[in-house]
Amino acid sequence: MPAIINYKICDQASACGGISICPVGAFTYNEKTKKIEIDNDKCISCGACAKTCPIGAIGVAKTQEEFEELKQAIEEDPRNPDDLFVDRFGGDIINQEVMVDFNQIDDIVSKQDCIIEIIDENNIMCLLKSITYNDILANTKYKKYYRCLITKEDNYGRYNINQLPSLLLCNNGKITKVIDGYYSESEKQKLFDAINQ
Ligand code: SF4
Repeated sequence: MPAIINYKICDQASACGGISICPVGAFTYNEKTKKIEIDNDKCISCGACAKTCPIGAIGVAKTQEEFEELKQAIEEDPRNPDDLFVDRFGGDIINQEVMVDFNQIDDIVSKQDCIIEIIDENNIMCLLKSITYNDILANTKYKKYYRCLITKEDNYGRYNINQLPSLLLCNNGKITKVIDGYYSESEKQKLFDAINQ
């Protein structure tokens, strides 16, 4: 049985990892339609392409029953590609407006109560499995959320950060709490509780 793509969430990237990993050339990018395609006459159901997709948009079935289940799950999936283009805690950077430079942090802390997320390129996580920052704002007292992408030269240790990504909670001109480490969507209540404590 063949592989199947969930086009509701696939971003149709021409650099999709499935293209280079497919051992039989069944997984391709169509330059005309700008879509990813699978030639199921060639597919041998090895499952390699599915492992490359960070958001689980590729399914591979070994039996007709599995294929029907995958098809049904895709039909019932309420998501759409717009869900990908949302800023998420520890996720890819989408909205440049919330980005601040490392050297702006002290100034921001001194002026307003807010959350500042500190990330670096090595700890950016999966798009769909991370908590949206709008969700964080909706479930905590904070009204402002900033993100700072640090470089190797930035001395972030001076903010008592031990592990990235990290959240700096800023209140009354000071950083009052640092929450280290990544929280996935399934752990979001734990993160909200840590922020609200
Ligand atoms: Fe290619 Fe294997 Fe994916 Fe089929 S399951 S498209 S053979 S990588």
